[in-house]
Amino acid sequence: MAKESTKCLIIGSGPAGYTAAIYASRAGLNPILYQGGQPGGQLTITTDVENYPGYPDGVMGPQMMTDFQKQAKRFGADIRFGLVTKVDFSGAKHIAYVDNGDEIEADTVIVSTGASAKWLGLESEQRLNSKGVSACAVCDGFFFRGQEVAVVGGGDTAAEEASYLSKLCKKVYLLVRRDEMRASNIMQQRVEKAENVEILWNTETDEVLGEEAVEGVRVVNRITGEKRVLDVTGFFVAIGHQPNTDIFKGWLNMDESGYIITENGTTKTNIEGVFASGDAQDNVYRQAITAAGTGCMAALEAERYLAAKELAI
Ligand code: NDP
Repeated sequence: MAKESTKCLIIGSGPAGYTAAIYASRAGLNPILYQGGQPGGQLTITTDVENYPGYPDGVMGPQMMTDFQKQAKRFGADIRFGLVTKVDFSGAKHIAYVDNGDEIEADTVIVSTGASAKWLGLESEQRLNSKGVSACAVCDGFFFRGQEVAVVGGGDTAAEEASYLSKLCKKVYLLVRRDEMRASNIMQQRVEKAENVEILWNTETDEVLGEEAVEGVRVVNRITGEKRVLDVTGFFVAIGHQPNTDIFKGWLNMDESGYIITENGTTKTNIEGVFASGDAQDNVYRQAITAAGTGCMAALEAERYLAAKELAI
């Protein structure tokens, strides 16, 4: 059980957290970063990343996160295993409690805890994750161009993913579990207009088929009980995301889904000295590059905040 003080505590280790660590350490803030329960974040469960500038031949998600970490360490960021389980933002100094018993007192906190995609919970879905099963069409759609794919969900995310995939793929099945979509009218119309999107209503996924790669999906009609196999090679789950922000509830302002609300055009939260970056505050773009961008913003804003308070070195 150690009690420590730092000018800058970074919580979370995806592209936002590591980018914040690179900037904060180069600015001399000696940041401490706790990696959280999934070091490297969502990119560690993807394979090829082809849309991050600077990697002309693409890069594997886990390798990219190792590179980010290495770059942050090069400038002295103190990167640690550990999950922050509780925070206290009531005083001038912000306190974070780590699962190993450590207690960190910080002048500034950068929240970069990310979000997690929701999954259906099928064993086959988990087994074939990154082998044809994905939760991000923008990340992985390109690998399925000219092929047939299925998208699960009835909200704006599913509508957006289906529209995006319809431009790349030969055919897109949209599997909606009820007889109506939750998506906004305009998004729904866009899907309905796309000639190669077929909406299967009242349809649930029974099983994702294949051993080493997705070879099909068995679906079941909830009304008739009829089962059929769709010959798809890609299976996109788009039933929503869950921001990892539970520990900040009661301290930071959030929307009804739990995304942290930041001041327009900044990473500032409602608590002075606490900044939020990456997917924890972004339910629109959710890309590694946008997360890295807001991680950079958070570190710059933390540095300026400290300078204004004359707490910086
Ligand atoms: P939502 O919670 O809005 O929708 C989730 C969808 O997935 C629902 O249709 C739900 O069905 C379905 N679903 C949930 N669990 C299952 C399951 N186990 N099996 C099958 N289907 C399931 O999440 P979204 O991510 O779509 O949207 C989240 C928020 O982000 C919304 O406010 C949305 O408007 C916003 N957003 C906005 C965008 C934009 O404006 N460009 C783009 C993307 C999101 P059911 O309806 O039956 O509950």
